Amino acid sequence: MADLFARLQLHEAVQSLTEQGLYPFYRAAETRHGSAEVVIDGRTLVQASAHDYLGLSCDARVIEAAVAATRRLGTGTCASRVANGSLALHEELEGRLADFLSRPAVMVTATGYQANLALGALLDRGDKVAGDQLIHASLIDAVALSRARLVRFRHNDLTRLERLLQASDGHDFGLIITEGLFSTSGDLCDLPGIAELARRHGVRLALDSAHDLGVLGRHGRGAAEHFGLEPAVDVQTVTFSKALGGVGGAVAGPDHVIAHLRHDARSMLFTSALSPASAAAALAALDIVIGEPERRQRVRQAAALVSGALADLGFAVTPSDRPIVAVPADDELSCFRLWKELFDAGVLTCAMIPPGVPDGRSVIRVAVTAAHTDRHLERIVDAFAAGKTNAQTRSANEHMPA
Ligand code: PMP
Repeated sequence: MADLFARLQLHEAVQSLTEQGLYPFYRAAETRHGSAEVVIDGRTLVQASAHDYLGLSCDARVIEAAVAATRRLGTGTCASRVANGSLALHEELEGRLADFLSRPAVMVTATGYQANLALGALLDRGDKVAGDQLIHASLIDAVALSRARLVRFRHNDLTRLERLLQASDGHDFGLIITEGLFSTSGDLCDLPGIAELARRHGVRLALDSAHDLGVLGRHGRGAAEHFGLEPAVDVQTVTFSKALGGVGGAVAGPDHVIAHLRHDARSMLFTSALSPASAAAALAALDIVIGEPERRQRVRQAAALVSGALADLGFAVTPSDRPIVAVPADDELSCFRLWKELFDAGVLTCAMIPPGVPDGRSVIRVAVTAAHTDRHLERIVDAFAAGKTNAQTRSANEHMPA
């Protein structure tokens, strides 16, 4: 067999993009100035790629809670939850989240990725799962690890989903998986339609609320609250790494389901417990989600402003008050070029190519937050305007006769 390492080629693409100055990944910030600004290569940029929707990652109260918990309980418990790594603090967080989400039980995990991975423990080899085309990699991995079969339906396409469920009389499918607010497109799932199909065909419904927790719904409980459909969702997963501004995740659902996950989900059993700092930070952030609803209003108002302005500039963006603004690019190279134009103009965005988005697509993703001031929002829009002008000039030059 040929040397395993000899077939690895990604480094060549990385090198080529780096030489052209277009490599957009792993750009390390030297420091941060609050939630909305980062310093990279000595330049202060508007942070428009972090999902810190409510601006809580640098909130003094959240930081203080994390520091106090570290002083009291240490940096880590150095054991998995099941094997004596559990703290009363984890249980307090689970109780508070269960109350907040109005779910009987909650299991806290070290990341949102692991919360989603845990859903695999509900599945057996041979089960069939229907998943939206745009679901996050962690949900795809959950099904893959369980050796169940994931059948994808076109994004939010209820006709396709219904056809799938009908073709199997509903019997084959045990679970439908979707996201509340989609992470790569920024649009909402059609929860009323999906919930109705799940009910009619007797299929369980799992909802990943990573991006809608804290942002959608009157109390910030996410997309299910927004649609008034919380009872229709059987299992809800959340992450602390978006609106809560920290690290960690959770699965919320019926008592016996969560008890099962606690004893069968490998992403819970075989990894260390959430750090005291992260658990305490999530608790403090949750207090702010509940106590300061004006942050939800601000982020949605800011998102409407940015998406509206980008649509006016001619970008293929649908104006909305959802905090993810996904700007499609023609191809990967144009995506990297636009990313670089924005970077040079002082705005840090996220360039997304497969496998972060489906094959053949590329997107510049902007995450708008309550921490962005009007001036930050203006700088984001101005950077896109400059990027558009430069792209037009480049295209005109490329078509000029030599
Ligand atoms: N679900 C979705 C939809 C996500 O976008 C992400 C993170 N990008 C996750 C789950 C995983 O969350 P975490 O970063 O906490 O692991």
